[in-house]
Amino acid sequence: MIKTAHDELVFLPLGGSNEIGMNFNLYGYGPPHARQWIVVDLGVTFGDQTTPGVEIILPDPTFIEKYAKDILGIVLTHAHEDHIGAVAWLWPRLKAPLYATPFTAFLLREKLREADLLDEVKITEIPLAGTFSLGPFDLTLITLTHSIPEPNGLAIRTPLGTILHTGDWKIDPDPLTGAPTDEGAIRRLGDEGILAMVCDSTNVFVDGEAGSEAQVRVTLNALISELKGGVAAACFASNVARMDTIIRAAEANGRRVCLVGRSMIRMSQAARSVGLLADIAPFLSDADARRLPRNKVLYLCTGSQGESRAALSRVADGNHPHVSLGQGDACVFSSRIIPGNEVPIRNLQNKLADRGVRLYTERDHPGLHVSGHPCRDELKRMYQWARPAIAVPTHGERRHLLEHAALARDLQVSQTVAPRNGEMVRLAPGPAEIIDEVPSGRLYVDAGVVTPENGDALRERRHAASNGVLTVSVAIDGRGRVVSPPRLKSLGLPGDENYPLNEALDDLAAEAGAALDRLSPDERDDDHAVEAALSRSVKKAAHRIWKRRPVVETTVLRV
Ligand SMILES: [Zn+2]
Ligand SMILES: [Zn+2]
Repeated sequence: MIKTAHDELVFLPLGGSNEIGMNFNLYGYGPPHARQWIVVDLGVTFGDQTTPGVEIILPDPTFIEKYAKDILGIVLTHAHEDHIGAVAWLWPRLKAPLYATPFTAFLLREKLREADLLDEVKITEIPLAGTFSLGPFDLTLITLTHSIPEPNGLAIRTPLGTILHTGDWKIDPDPLTGAPTDEGAIRRLGDEGILAMVCDSTNVFVDGEAGSEAQVRVTLNALISELKGGVAAACFASNVARMDTIIRAAEANGRRVCLVGRSMIRMSQAARSVGLLADIAPFLSDADARRLPRNKVLYLCTGSQGESRAALSRVADGNHPHVSLGQGDACVFSSRIIPGNEVPIRNLQNKLADRGVRLYTERDHPGLHVSGHPCRDELKRMYQWARPAIAVPTHGERRHLLEHAALARDLQVSQTVAPRNGEMVRLAPGPAEIIDEVPSGRLYVDAGVVTPENGDALRERRHAASNGVLTVSVAIDGRGRVVSPPRLKSLGLPGDENYPLNEALDDLAAEAGAALDRLSPDERDDDHAVEAALSRSVKKAAHRIWKRRPVVETTVLRV
């Protein structure tokens, strides 16, 4: 590949910069009017209390969709949802071939099959440490360690310089599944010369090191050997090393394992497809688990984040079809609290405690979990190995990115740039700088429909959730006479003995009737005028009664 005078190498995050989640990174090469692109990761983020009914949030691909024919490939670094979760949703708008290692490819195929896209999408499996070329980009995978099998960094060589895109990583000397971090490959790349390192910022505020899966194995083994009654353990299903640890700890203590939750089962299949979880006893079926004494079973469950529909929440609510926990049983949380999930997790743990279940969490039993992201000492080592000319922090909120940039400067990196989603960074030629801002944002998956961020449906739902709903209906005949006076119904509005709800509704109906009386016969003939008058009068009266502005829905029947 020969470079021309107008060629530029650019980095453009459309997700994952200024937030932890929905990673969507682009690299562009060529003259500004004719860039060729590769996409690195296409993930989701999750809804919370501020997005009622919306569980999945996608990065908005509108900008790059215009150049879909110039996307040479979509490379997936690893199989976490914040890196691959949006593929099935957004692939139809990008239509580029996918590249991933076998474990990630297995899970991608599952997602594409569910979305009925498997026949359309080309997935190329790249072996660990493999190499492939996409136009001007020569890519080599670098084996790293994280909290899922097969986490890969990418060495991206271009005629204008080499990028090390780390993806998610930590330095785990004993990751239990897969090889340790390929320090040699990173050092050799550093010797060759790294123009820019685009790097994980998640734990930049945490001193020291994340810790090893091998340490967690020691802690969990010791804990599980002491437990007597029924035991449930919860971990992230994608952390196959952790699953492996819990399964072996169970077996060492005379317990067989029953997987509870769909993603636990799917991950175990993905793990087996690449030779992991190999020499363990077969998992118990639900029925077999019920037949065994409680102290011979360990339930390995999804739902450590308090997700309402996941296995553990149903166990806590006492309505799981196969698993029940009570007095004398134990539940081990081998996971951390993802920020934003504090309330559902607390509720879940309180419900379990109320059933008499003894809880073991990272907070009161340190060592039950380690993070999958690099803390400061690990970041320092990575910079010493890679020695990039430019540091581009990513995978963090604003404060993480800026702290990471400051750390890189302390480590003598000469240039740092911390773009927000939508800010295009020219990495070469010339000094690294933001040269453009393109549209970026979020899309909400609402009841299976991809909708704009803060679209009408969600806005109305939020409004109704905090203000309540009033419906008012009236029947009017052909001569503009009110045949049946306004009737009111309410949802989510309170009353008490001093002012019962039905009295409030009667008062609202009277106001609505008076508003109709004030209309001329011509106006009463016009549905819009009638609806506007009803709505205005009911809103005003509702505000007087409740100091709120409920959603008001009007129906005019013509008889
Ligand atoms: Zn991630
Ligand atoms: Zn990850």
